[in-house]
Amino acid sequence: MEKNNKSLSFSESVNYMVDRALSVLNVDPGTSNSIKTCNSTIKVSFPVEINGKIEVFTGWRSVHSDHRLPSKGGIRFAPIVNEDEVEALASLMTYKCAIVDVPFGGSKGGLLIDPSKYTRDDMQRITRRFARELIRKGYLSPATNVPAPDMGTGEREMAWITDTYKQLHPEDINYLGCVTGKPVAHGGIRGRTEATGRGVVYAIREFFRNADDVQSAGLKPGLGGKTVVIQGLGNVGYYAAKLLDEEDGCKIIAIIERDGVLINEEGLRVEDVRKHINEHKTIKGFPDAKFSEDGASGLEIECDILIPAAMEAQITKENADKIKTKVIFEAANGPVTFEADDILHQRGIMIFPDAYVNAGGVTVSYFEWVRNLAHIRFGRMERRHDEMRGAHMLQALETLTGKQSEAWMQKELVYGADELDLVRSGLDDTMRNSYQQLKEVYSTNDDVHDFRTAAYVVAIQKLMRSYIDIGIY
Ligand code: NAD
Repeated sequence: MEKNNKSLSFSESVNYMVDRALSVLNVDPGTSNSIKTCNSTIKVSFPVEINGKIEVFTGWRSVHSDHRLPSKGGIRFAPIVNEDEVEALASLMTYKCAIVDVPFGGSKGGLLIDPSKYTRDDMQRITRRFARELIRKGYLSPATNVPAPDMGTGEREMAWITDTYKQLHPEDINYLGCVTGKPVAHGGIRGRTEATGRGVVYAIREFFRNADDVQSAGLKPGLGGKTVVIQGLGNVGYYAAKLLDEEDGCKIIAIIERDGVLINEEGLRVEDVRKHINEHKTIKGFPDAKFSEDGASGLEIECDILIPAAMEAQITKENADKIKTKVIFEAANGPVTFEADDILHQRGIMIFPDAYVNAGGVTVSYFEWVRNLAHIRFGRMERRHDEMRGAHMLQALETLTGKQSEAWMQKELVYGADELDLVRSGLDDTMRNSYQQLKEVYSTNDDVHDFRTAAYVVAIQKLMRSYIDIGIY
């Protein structure tokens, strides 16, 4: 279904995908419009002195929905950001939160900047100033709008933003909940940095537990030994690729980065590639792999699983017919355009959508926010108690059987879960449950032919339920 020859904007692309689900659910045009429309978008421009000269920076924050508060969504720092992109990403956040049962509305922010051109001190002043603009205008607080890291931002920026909020609102006892993705020592939660990439892997593992879906995708059972191509070895891509390489026995046959692609049919060691990037700031020159400067061609390498984890609009109508994978897991937001989605679907390539696949980040952000409001680390009260109960149970078993327990039993039973265990357990549970919700719609609704539509059907049903409950319609 091509709308015209011009490429669609990011938000048009998302909205056309959502339209499919709205028509499956037979939602009337007025309600459909109100579901898709962003509530509000703020644009701020502010001056910062850099090397004795004034530079003006521009950023946006968009709230797609506030049916649940706070509205939630990352802030990206990138040389290409615009209002349309921020609104599209904010709407994805609404659907994402609904899919994984995170009780938040959807929001997103972006600052037009190339962070590589500025020193750490410059970045700190720019970030703090941007945060002040958002706080003053009501677009950042623990109760109403809570950012998180995205492209070009991480723990460091989140710590600066928290401190800025605390200075402006020293009376707010919940100030730590004003952003998520903070350093652990400053109110962050263990496991947040890796959460999105780990969530991607939990989604892939759940897919492989569903033999009928694996067969529909044209794959043989078992994740071990599967060939994987990944685009983007940043926060999301690195953790996803690392786990698939080190824990699941996949072969990462290609890694695509800004400056090209590394290829090794025997499998790349992800940790070594990352070390090389950290040292040399490029993938070029990595030993034991072929290198090509034509990074985009890497997407067309034959593989079992393709994971775009860099940015939007990477698989478009221009290259969709050259993609040679069996299944795509969208770790980035919007990596496949609406037109490409149609082409890939017709070619029988299965796609698991961004709004589900990369929802691990917001899921663990939710855990972090709850931890901040509770003012206590998860597991602190019960860990030693659980450990003691395990020891008592083992002792009882030994007494009853008259046998000495084995070392592994002691290790597994005499144990109380710590925060990281609980975060990973909650994340795994979320990704598995949500997969089953998508699958239920995909396999029982004759009008749903792909997992993306299934995901939006699940999201819209939940959104409409909550809108009806609070009397919007
Ligand atoms: P990041 O900045 O840490 O990493 C992005 C990586 O992609 C970098 O290594 C960059 O060099 C590479 N890259 C950029 N353009 C590229 C191109 N054209 N080809 C190949 N590589 C390219 O960002 P991130 O946080 O990992 O986010 C990646 C994607 O995941 C984005 O779409 C983001 O919105 C989405 N996402 C991130 C999170 C999160 O928790 N960080 C959560 C949900 C979704």
